[in-house]
Amino acid sequence: MSAVTVQTTVEPLNFFEQVVAATPGESHLEACIQCGTCGGSCPSGADMDHTPRAIFALIKADMKEAVLHSNTPWYCVSCYYCTVRCPQDIHITDIMYTLKRIATQEGMVKNTPREKAKAPNFSQAFITWVENYGRSFELGLMGVHMLRHNPFGAFKIADMGVGLVAKGRMAFTPTRIKEFDSLAAILAKAKELEGSE
Ligand code: SF4
Ligand code: SF4
Repeated sequence: MSAVTVQTTVEPLNFFEQVVAATPGESHLEACIQCGTCGGSCPSGADMDHTPRAIFALIKADMKEAVLHSNTPWYCVSCYYCTVRCPQDIHITDIMYTLKRIATQEGMVKNTPREKAKAPNFSQAFITWVENYGRSFELGLMGVHMLRHNPFGAFKIADMGVGLVAKGRMAFTPTRIKEFDSLAAILAKAKELEGSE
C-alpha cells in the first residue's frame, strides 16, 4: 500500500490579524465601534492623515498600504488620552507602536515620500542614539534631522544651539550612560524576542 502525503497550507494573516498578533497583550481592536472618541481626544489629530478611528477602519478593510504610508502613527505622541477614553478599552497607543514597527520592518518607511518621511526618520535617528549611547543627543539629533529635511532651517536655529551649548544646557558631544552594557543586553534580548534580528 502506498503512503499518502497530505499537504497542509497555512493561510497568511490578513492585515487585521497581523496587527493584533504583533501588539503585546490584548489589543481589543476587534471591538472598535467607530465612535470617534479617540480622534476627538487626540492632540495630534489635526496633523494626522487619518484619525485613529479611520486608521482602525482601514485596518479592518485590509488596506495595509494606506495605513502604513499614513503619518498617523508617527504623529502619535503617546499621551494615552485616547486609550483612557475609549469605551471599548482598545489599546490604541500600543497599536500605534505596532504600526510603526511593521512599517519599519517591512521597508515602508524607506519608500515613503521625503516630506512624509520626516517623522519616521526623526524616530529612527532618536532610536539610533539611544541604541549607541543609552540616551538621546539633542545636538546630533536635531543637526542630522535639520540638515536632512530642512537645511536652511538648520542655519536659522544654529545660534540657539550655540547658545544652549555655551550655557551648558545642551551637550556638545554625546556621552554614554552608566551601565550601558546592561541596556545593550536588554535591547538585544528585546530584538531577539521580537524576531527582528
Ligand atoms: S474610541 Fe475606541 S471604540 Fe471609539 S473609534 Fe476609537 S478605538 Fe474605536
Ligand atoms: S496616544 Fe497618540 S493617538 Fe492617542 S490621543 Fe495621544 S497622540 Fe493621539
